[in-house]
Amino acid sequence: MRIPSSTLCALSVLLTVSACIKKKPEGGKEDIVIGSAIYKYEDTFMAGVRSSMSQAAQGKATLNFVDSANQQPVQSEKVDLFIAKKVKALALNPVDRTAAGTLIDKAKAADIPVVFFNREPLPEDMKKWDKVYYVGAKAEESGRLEGEIVVDYFKTNPAADKNKDGKIQYVILTGEPGHQDAELRTKYSIEAIEQGGYKTEKLAGDTAMWDRIKGQEKMAAFLGAHKDAIELVIANNDDMALGAIEALKAVGYFKGDKTVPVVGVDATAPALKALEEGTLLGTVLNDAKNQGKATFAVSYAVAQGQAPDEAHTGYSLTDAKYVWIPYKKITKANIKDAL
Ligand code: BGC
Repeated sequence: MRIPSSTLCALSVLLTVSACIKKKPEGGKEDIVIGSAIYKYEDTFMAGVRSSMSQAAQGKATLNFVDSANQQPVQSEKVDLFIAKKVKALALNPVDRTAAGTLIDKAKAADIPVVFFNREPLPEDMKKWDKVYYVGAKAEESGRLEGEIVVDYFKTNPAADKNKDGKIQYVILTGEPGHQDAELRTKYSIEAIEQGGYKTEKLAGDTAMWDRIKGQEKMAAFLGAHKDAIELVIANNDDMALGAIEALKAVGYFKGDKTVPVVGVDATAPALKALEEGTLLGTVLNDAKNQGKATFAVSYAVAQGQAPDEAHTGYSLTDAKYVWIPYKKITKANIKDAL
């Protein structure tokens, strides 16, 4: 049978086109590799951010995570490996935020854009290169909101000033020294309480390094020294607040009407449970989901050489470098806003 030459021609065009389509890279998963180092996998809040990033990356890029095990030298080595593998972007959660400058120098030398998240580099480091970004939340805002929860509570429960001296005797559990969230939440929570019309007196304070067990130990020591004189427990995050609640339970709090207000930040799942149970008075939603989504979106855009603007990421970019995710006050009354 003779096949007309026009049909043969059409067939060959079709075959060539389909061959071309087959040979073309799929523009998906295999093509774009993003290297991400987390300061410490064990951190409850960071586990939430990481899982949100993974979800956002589904079907778009390969997101390679590494645990820096809370050691900056380990992280720096892992970043070197990512650079040697020629990843298209770096998404970094520094162990020591003052080490960001060195990480930026490495990334810049290899021309790999870098997106920091959760631990904010110093402004002078952010200015080192135009392909450096930060995704996070304004630390002072979380401190202020935490303080406002306390003010609302003392306004509606004047008897919480147990010794009726017109001052709130408090203890505070702080995060890692040098972390912007530890420094600023501490400062602004107290400032908001005072602006709300209350005098404060610090009975004790110490770092519990964002950690629940350390929070419990420090709180047990505060209780040993100050007993029922403590009128308020402020923690820079929920894990430490939950540790404090354990220590308080151990000496009889949260049974009958023996109570003391405890506030934290993050709105993690166990913290929401404690809110429901009435042990935690309030927390501030540190939006792990949107921080993770935005970190991936910015990394994905820059990995493809696109501008990480709102059109490409869905998040607005401030000063050409920063994506700020808002915080929100959470108490038992609006718990659903955090679920
Ligand atoms: C969170 C903490 C967390 C820390 C890690 C903070 O924003 O509130 O729970 O441990 O980030 O860097």
